Amino acid sequence: MHFVALVGTNADQSYNRQLLAYMQRHFKQQAKITICDISNIPLFREGAKIPVNVQQLADAITATDGLIIATPEYDHSIPAALKSVLEWLSCEIHPLEKKPIMIVGASLGIQGTSRAQQNLRQILDAPGVNAIVMPGDEFMLSFATKAFDEQGDLKDAQTIQFLESCFNDYVQFCTKVNGEGSVKMKTSQRQPVKWASAYDVVVLGFGAVGATAARFAADNGAKVLLADAAPDGHEGGNTRYAGQVVLTGHDYNKTKAYFKQLFGSIDIDEEILDTYVKGISNMPAYFKQYLEIEEPVSYNKVHRDPDFEAFANGLSPEYPEFDGSDAIDLTTVHDGYFDASLWKTLRAQVTKRPKQIDIWLSSPAKHLIQNTDTGVIEGVQIERNGQLVNIQARNGVVMAMGGFENNPEYIQNFIGVPKLKVIGTLYNKGDGISMAQEVGAKFWHMKSFEGYGFNTSFTFENPEEQRGKFILAAWPELSHGSIFIAADDGSRYVREDENGRHGHAYEHGSWHNPTVYNHPHLIFDQTQYDKIKAQSKLPYPDFFKITIKAASLAELAAKIDADPETLKQTVNQFNQFAEQGTDFALGRAGDSLAAFGDGPFYATPLATAMLNTQGGAQRNAKAEVLDAAGQPIPHLYSAGEFGGINANQYNGGGNLAECLIFGKIAGENAAAVKTDSLITTTETAPIADLGRNDLDGENVLSQFEVGPDQYLGVSEAGIGGQIVVRVTYSNGTLSEVEVLKESESEDVGQQAMAELPQTMVAANTYDVDGVSGASSSSRALKSAVKNALSKVKATV
Ligand SMILES: Cc1cc2nc3c(=O)[nH]c(=O)nc-3n(C[C@H](O)[C@H](O)[C@H](O)COP(=O)(O)OP(=O)(O)OC[C@H]3O[C@@H](n4cnc5c(N)ncnc54)[C@H](O)[C@@H]3O)c2cc1C
Repeated sequence: MHFVALVGTNADQSYNRQLLAYMQRHFKQQAKITICDISNIPLFREGAKIPVNVQQLADAITATDGLIIATPEYDHSIPAALKSVLEWLSCEIHPLEKKPIMIVGASLGIQGTSRAQQNLRQILDAPGVNAIVMPGDEFMLSFATKAFDEQGDLKDAQTIQFLESCFNDYVQFCTKVNGEGSVKMKTSQRQPVKWASAYDVVVLGFGAVGATAARFAADNGAKVLLADAAPDGHEGGNTRYAGQVVLTGHDYNKTKAYFKQLFGSIDIDEEILDTYVKGISNMPAYFKQYLEIEEPVSYNKVHRDPDFEAFANGLSPEYPEFDGSDAIDLTTVHDGYFDASLWKTLRAQVTKRPKQIDIWLSSPAKHLIQNTDTGVIEGVQIERNGQLVNIQARNGVVMAMGGFENNPEYIQNFIGVPKLKVIGTLYNKGDGISMAQEVGAKFWHMKSFEGYGFNTSFTFENPEEQRGKFILAAWPELSHGSIFIAADDGSRYVREDENGRHGHAYEHGSWHNPTVYNHPHLIFDQTQYDKIKAQSKLPYPDFFKITIKAASLAELAAKIDADPETLKQTVNQFNQFAEQGTDFALGRAGDSLAAFGDGPFYATPLATAMLNTQGGAQRNAKAEVLDAAGQPIPHLYSAGEFGGINANQYNGGGNLAECLIFGKIAGENAAAVKTDSLITTTETAPIADLGRNDLDGENVLSQFEVGPDQYLGVSEAGIGGQIVVRVTYSNGTLSEVEVLKESESEDVGQQAMAELPQTMVAANTYDVDGVSGASSSSRALKSAVKNALSKVKATV
């Protein structure tokens, strides 16, 4: 709605003007309020030509839904200036005729404009004026000098609450007085959006949050579109690559105390923290009730003391020294990690609702479509089959687009580091940030990110466009002996033997992401080289391929672009520490130090590994996205990594917990039918078929051909979704296994796809040993071949 608000005085300083300015800001999600001053309007003179500014005021009143008048009280009445304006507006022209009016007033004393308001009601009721004043609801602000704070906002909560109640009544009053017709007429003044299709809810991003929000929106009666930028088999975002552990707290109060310490000096809204901690405390029940996991696995019960008393270092808890840490646990869908088990469970909850949820892959969202009058998010512009289409969202849009890990510019601008190595998905490019910026969202936690890797948080440097190798296994040869990590200039900067906490290093009392350098290196001597070489299987097989050798430290420094003098001094100092048995610079354990021998020397290029960023649009406990003033942007929701709650010290499992908790809230709230919406009809533009559901399994096999003695099989159990195989089988012999469709992970998953078909043919059965480290992909492939072979039996 749009209202004109009249300042009922011509005084330079006016608390009534201040009150209207406050209302303009405070109610901006509900209505646009245009404040009009009367100080330049001349005194009314019967018979005189209507002044231009009076006519402009009259036109503005006519074009809007109602008029708010803020009047002071002068001598038990309204000011003469206001009376004069009302006379202009009721003599030759009559813009107030049948106009719904709200009266408010601010005064210095206790009476709060009561008499002036009565007086104004009488005037507005006069036959020539004929306005319709809202009955009851007299908003009077007494002692106005003390009512506002420095920003001009009302201070007293009860006063604000009463004003809100009066204003809500007024909005409804206007709808009744004006009728539906006038509101519709106003929206039609906007350029109508050409909608290509309409849904109740549009969810952007198909990771943990997208899957959860889509499913809960569907369960609340919504027809949902779930769109992801990644192609078939690559949906799943970081969720698919995650360890699959979900943070759990066995005691609400203890868990909350623990989280308060994790946040440390970073303020967090109490309501959102409560919602998060309550959700974390109920996680096993959530798994049972919503994910149909009969026996969720408690990490502590399976791997630690069954009484939850003894804890080792690790993720459960990651900060054992904090109060409440004994309540911290992790929940998984089974006793296994890094196998996409949670992701596959969440994905299945979506694919088993094909009637309610359409899935579009390779379909990046580009812009939100906002009604500029009301601020309501009415839909999304999505790139689909090479064209930009406008998709209407009748009740809500959920932004579930993950972080900005693959956007080097954002990494530099928001986190303030030269670069970070992506370990998870390559499709999170921070698109949500520019989309949310366009509709006025507020941002938070932009600097926060989580790392993981050997030593504090390292992986090996490789070409920019490739994912970094996730080195999870302990590799003590890289932190014990004649070896250290050098920054760009050749000096040491991290304690190499520190067990980093999600990429955080201990620094003056709390844990922080260490400085990220452009080209850090492992530096070591021949003895250490031999020790590493002696290992039977390296966690990073290419280690020696990328390692640089030099006869002297000066030559090594030149090869890695470090300062030769600094590198020499660093080695000298390191050797002194080794002899003294104490690392005076960084506190590395004395027995982990060994002095460097004479050359040759070696350097291996490293990169700081990043799991995920946390920054994005700020949300509240209802998963509503907030604008710059902290008010919800109507119909816009978000959850998960796009604006993650975790801003400081982080406990593993906290991200996926957040996705499940707030994904559910976002989906439910987005599905709720909205009464503030002006969206009524859908205009369908004549465009090509957009397709309905890219993951509809029914027809997938019909895309592939079969020859004599050939059979197709499919499995949904792959980390990258469907695996389709074609087997050739006759006279009891399995002669060929072809993998026709798969999107398993580039590293170990691909190995299973390459090796297992031959193994199966050689063994003449699908039931062979899986490839080590790729058990999930191996299982999925075996299940697809088993599926194909079952058809042989059926036809024989
Ligand atoms: C290796 C690794 C291990 C981890 N282990 C754990 C763990 O065990 N426990 C834990 O709690 N956390 C873990 N995390 C973090 C956790 O995985 C993420 O925080 C979480 O998965 C984020 O879920 P999400 O749904 O918000 O985003 P994602 O799962 O990343 O999904 C975002 C989706 O949005 C899509 N998208 C992006 N742009 C667009 C666009 N313009 N239009 C449409 N779609 C778009 C992407 O393609 C993607 O599919 C780990 C992360 C990594 C990388």
